[in-house]
Amino acid sequence: MGKLTGFMDYAREEVEEREARHRISDWREYKAPFSDETLKRQGARCMDCGTPFCQIGEVLDGATTGCPIYNLIPEWNHLVYLEKWEEALERLLKTNNFPEFTGRVCPAPCEGSCTLAIADPAVTIKSIERTIIDKGFENGWIASRMPRNRTGKSVAIIGSGPAGLASADQLNQAGHMVTVYERQDRAGGLLMYGIPNMKLEKEVVERRVRLLEEEGIQFILNTEVGIDIHADELNEMYDAVILCTGA
Ligand SMILES: Cc1cc2nc3c(=O)[nH]c(=O)nc-3n(C[C@H](O)[C@H](O)[C@H](O)COP(=O)(O)OP(=O)(O)OC[C@H]3O[C@@H](n4cnc5c(N)ncnc54)[C@H](O)[C@@H]3O)c2cc1C
Ligand code: SF4
Repeated sequence: MGKLTGFMDYAREEVEEREARHRISDWREYKAPFSDETLKRQGARCMDCGTPFCQIGEVLDGATTGCPIYNLIPEWNHLVYLEKWEEALERLLKTNNFPEFTGRVCPAPCEGSCTLAIADPAVTIKSIERTIIDKGFENGWIASRMPRNRTGKSVAIIGSGPAGLASADQLNQAGHMVTVYERQDRAGGLLMYGIPNMKLEKEVVERRVRLLEEEGIQFILNTEVGIDIHADELNEMYDAVILCTGA
């Protein structure tokens, strides 16, 4: 667990935001990652609860409680406290394909479920997550991972939003040949053409798409399935087809 008395010793701190007078001159992201010192202090606040509600990922009364992708939150909070950044990254990547997206735009139901929030402000889980993955990219710990074996099976994924990208990543790592069809001119779905830059800069999305390409995933852009290519053709060409076309 973080530090035994961390939740009593340290207050919750927020990441720094750019000053409004600077922010108004561009559309760039306005939040910065934590410094190492702050990151450590904030990780120290985690109590390593016997039942870590932060990571349960349940729907209760129609509302999401805890992390829907079951992030191993107390584990990486502890590793951050110990300044074991690379190990923290490894734990984070066990459950999360793209922490650089969720660490920036997820509404953080984990924090809403944090036990500490009963009496004090919650652990700053989302900002810790974002800082761990940003550190991973800065230090070159994130590199393309080539699947060891290929299964000979092929999959078409329609739509390149977060659902399509996560499916593509999982199936490619499992060894299948993955092709993503996207009707827009860029991959990313609403990460690219919905969420504004001030929350998620497009370079962050493009960086991930480049990695996925390096790992063997093929993106076919400007192609609307149902108009430019018929669904029957896809069914003939691939062993499986996954629909990730969003709302
Ligand atoms: C303005 C805005 C701000 C948002 N802010 C946040 C936020 O801060 N935090 C958050 O968690 N969520 C936010 N969201 C919601 C989030 O973006 C969506 O929940 C998420 O993108 C859904 O992912 P998806 O992969 O299911 O679908 P999408 O992202 O919609 O991706 C579907 C993709 O499929 C493609 N497609 C559809 N039909 C076809 C076809 N026939 N052929 C080929 N391609 C096709 C589409 O072009 C699209 O690229 C925001 C949404 C918007 C619009
Ligand atoms: S609920 Fe909060 S205090 Fe408990 S393990 Fe999760 S992050 Fe730590």
